[in-house]
Amino acid sequence: MSAIADNLQAIRSRIAQAARLAGRSPDSVALLAVSKTKPLADIVAAAAAGQTAFGENYVQEGVEKVLATAVDRKLEWHFIGPLQSNKSRLVAEHFDWVHTIDRLKIAERLSAQRPANLPPLNVCVQVNVSGEASKSGCRPDETAALCRAVATLPGLRLRGLMTIPEPTDDPQAQRLPFRQLRDLHEQLRADGLPLDTLSMGMSHDLEAAIAEGATLVRIGTAIFGERNYA
Ligand SMILES: *Cc1c(COP(=O)(O)O)cnc(C)c1O
Repeated sequence: MSAIADNLQAIRSRIAQAARLAGRSPDSVALLAVSKTKPLADIVAAAAAGQTAFGENYVQEGVEKVLATAVDRKLEWHFIGPLQSNKSRLVAEHFDWVHTIDRLKIAERLSAQRPANLPPLNVCVQVNVSGEASKSGCRPDETAALCRAVATLPGLRLRGLMTIPEPTDDPQAQRLPFRQLRDLHEQLRADGLPLDTLSMGMSHDLEAAIAEGATLVRIGTAIFGERNYA
């Protein structure tokens, strides 16, 4: 087996174990393999080991990988990076999901630019639960209004919420922002929004995220190794 296949196996075990500890079915947590900065060969190796959903952060790099893999197999592509208006068309045309909706303007553009022959683009609203000024994501108190507006856009299908908390090694501290996102998710569902996705948890905190109800974890380093941005 390749190192990537081994890593995927280990991550699947971590997910299953965390789910069992939380009294949840392992199938209730989807695995998104975050392949940003990694070569096509790594994606091919992961796909050969059964991985179907991949996440990318940079539009140009992501689109190249979508196109390069499209001939051989149908992979599912998630855009999980900050999205600028001038790049939205490429994302609307090539991706299946966007996790980083944080303002109505970008959602409206994606909806208008989604090709009519494709199903609606699945989207999550990104929430900045830890509240630092520098980070992307809408404020918790803006989330309900943004979700309601996004839910009306014909080219999009609102699926849920996403967050990237401040990194910390303390497992109890890791759970707090995930719990806040889950609470928000539950409120919105109680208000009638049909959300089924909580996109939270990365290589270092997936156990905490699953304990708090994550339905999709975004894992890069633990599958593909450290990233080299040089
Ligand atoms: C890079 C990235 C990940 C993966 O992080 P790892 O710590 O490498 O698992 C997950 N989510 C987002 C939004 C990212 O940008």
